[in-house]
Amino acid sequence: SVPLSFFGGVSAASRNGILVKGSNFLEVLNQVSVVAFDKTGTLTKGQFEVSQVLPVSGVSEAKLTGYTAAAEQQSTHPIAQSIVSAFPVDKTTYRVTQSTETAGHGVAALINGVQVVVGNAKALDANGIAVSELQTVETVVYVALDGVYAGAITVADQPKPDAQTAIADLKKHGVNETWMLTGDSEPVADAIGTEIGVTNVAAGLLPEQKVGIVDQLTTAAHAKNGKVAFVGDGINDTPVLARADVGIAMGGLGSDAAIEAADVVIMDDQPSKVMTAMTIARHTKVIVW
Ligand code: ADP
Ligand code: MG
Repeated sequence: SVPLSFFGGVSAASRNGILVKGSNFLEVLNQVSVVAFDKTGTLTKGQFEVSQVLPVSGVSEAKLTGYTAAAEQQSTHPIAQSIVSAFPVDKTTYRVTQSTETAGHGVAALINGVQVVVGNAKALDANGIAVSELQTVETVVYVALDGVYAGAITVADQPKPDAQTAIADLKKHGVNETWMLTGDSEPVADAIGTEIGVTNVAAGLLPEQKVGIVDQLTTAAHAKNGKVAFVGDGINDTPVLARADVGIAMGGLGSDAAIEAADVVIMDDQPSKVMTAMTIARHTKVIVW
């Protein structure tokens, strides 16, 4: 049987813009000892801005940005959206006849008969294209045209305004282990992780590797009678939401699939609402028991 006041907790949560799909998740929230966050769209705004266009010699900026934006038009990833809005595509000039998107990598497309690959270093590597990685704390989108490295476009995202407070509050309330999991590169992840104050960062992860880390964290937490919460926006992380003891989705930016897979949905996408949900769960328990 469910204590009556857990129902009170569910409605208190909903008044705070937090949808809890069943009072049992308040009990799980009460036991959370580790919180793992996705980076893009969860701890950061998920709104990238283009900062540098770096073609190799012999390739014009227009050619680099044109092919890149035409390829990115096939993707809904926040990085893709930033590039398409910075470099609007003239569809009569760039004809896309084939395209495939690979989660955690990028996009490959056939455009005007040119084989275009855009994405991180792993994406180019997977296509057999050598690239020397730029040393920067911005996210780098590498570009290859017909199998030859053609340059890069760097984009940058920013932490959400309450990201740092969200982590500090969790620590203050005894959640001493906080993770940021990301498919982005290590220098970018470390810089943002340090700024926000998470205790652990794992970078360069494919979606299935995020599932693997959450599995490991869960095993370790359960051995100490704790539980693991994973917080994500659902872009490529729906399986992780489903796997954690409690999956928390950002409901605004998040996809329908994420909202479906999650146990708790934060309607306004603020990471500080994780602590709000845990506080409501704790008070609910205190009142009843
Ligand atoms: P995160 O873990 O930060 O939410 P994703 O798993 O969605 O990120 O993507 C991981 C990385 O894969 C990105 O940081 C980027 O380097 C690359 N990537 C994925 N999709 C695209 C795309 N459409 N264009 C360029 N790069 C991409
Ligand atoms: Mg993501």
